[in-house]
Amino acid sequence: MASPMIDLRSDTVTRPTQPMRDAMMAAPLGDDVLGDESAVTTLEIKIAALLGKEAGLFVPSGTMANQLAIRGHCEAGDEIIAHGESHIIHYETGAPAAISGCMIRPLDGPRGLFEAATVTAAVRNRDIHSPKSRLVVAENTHNRGGGSVWPIAQFRSVCVAARAHDLAIHVDGARLFNACVTAGYSPSEFAATADTASVCFSKGLGAPVGSALVGPRPFIERCRRFRKMFGGGMRQSGLLAAAAIYALDHHVARLTQDHARAKALAQKLAKLSGIIVDPPVELIESNMVFFTLADHLTDQMADPLGDAQAFCARLREQGVSLIPMGPRRVRAVMHLDVPDDVVERTVTAITRTLGAV
Ligand SMILES: *Cc1c(COP(=O)(O)O)cnc(C)c1O
Repeated sequence: MASPMIDLRSDTVTRPTQPMRDAMMAAPLGDDVLGDESAVTTLEIKIAALLGKEAGLFVPSGTMANQLAIRGHCEAGDEIIAHGESHIIHYETGAPAAISGCMIRPLDGPRGLFEAATVTAAVRNRDIHSPKSRLVVAENTHNRGGGSVWPIAQFRSVCVAARAHDLAIHVDGARLFNACVTAGYSPSEFAATADTASVCFSKGLGAPVGSALVGPRPFIERCRRFRKMFGGGMRQSGLLAAAAIYALDHHVARLTQDHARAKALAQKLAKLSGIIVDPPVELIESNMVFFTLADHLTDQMADPLGDAQAFCARLREQGVSLIPMGPRRVRAVMHLDVPDDVVERTVTAITRTLGAV
């Protein structure tokens, strides 16, 4: 019998483990919109404490968490300062414009990170012609940057620059726990100089659904109202909150395993002709491996699907699913729902695919 597909498209593909399902079934439930005490309240208190903020809000998705933060911090006509490769620019359906009437000033910088001086240079003059610079968003880990981790000193200097211009700071921490296990800082240490932060439970932490926004209590209560407005008020969501609590208690320390597997995969892929691991092996800091297909390979493929897409389609026939992240760029993401021989099998499948091109 063929082995089941190894799915490395994203760390969102994880299915809840049996102990997580048991925790969900045992969760205290109430109507969260009506303010009943339930696992949701417990989770909101827990995640706020972990991030060193006054209050937390459980939401259906990381997109909603980020968009609530933007809606809470900004008004129409404001400008957000963020890296040009940010999730809020590429993957949130234009929501900052659609929902909050904001534009985004995209910054440059290696691997999705940027410097304090780059922020300072992007701040608008406060005159009648200009949009108002209002908010800085920093993503940690940075997805399109290759799962890169913010050094805390660099982030703190960005915050100092932002404060000097009266800007608010939001951390898109969809994978903040991945950053923490690599860098050795705690979530609260990293978030200390930010106003608000979002975290996802449904990525590497392995919960089926859910994210949280944390920040000052009045801000979170304002966003609780916006959550209802956005259609994100949920009822017996204690079922989902219980999965998130279980994930926080059991799935954080193990992220190091995902990181080690990503590194091991990258080391092996770097030796294959036709594949350029980028960021390079020594800069792989979390659970993601990005690679680009070399010229000679894509010339041979000349596939109407587009090179990365065609490559992924062929690789799928070898039992491994990766995701195209550009015309020639491919991403592999490690997570808790992979077999022990994930690295070997993935390398074999990729080698076969390259051989068949
Ligand atoms: C996944 C992700 C989000 C949120 O995505 P949802 O699919 O809406 O949960 C936000 N930021 C980053 C960096 C992400 O990777």
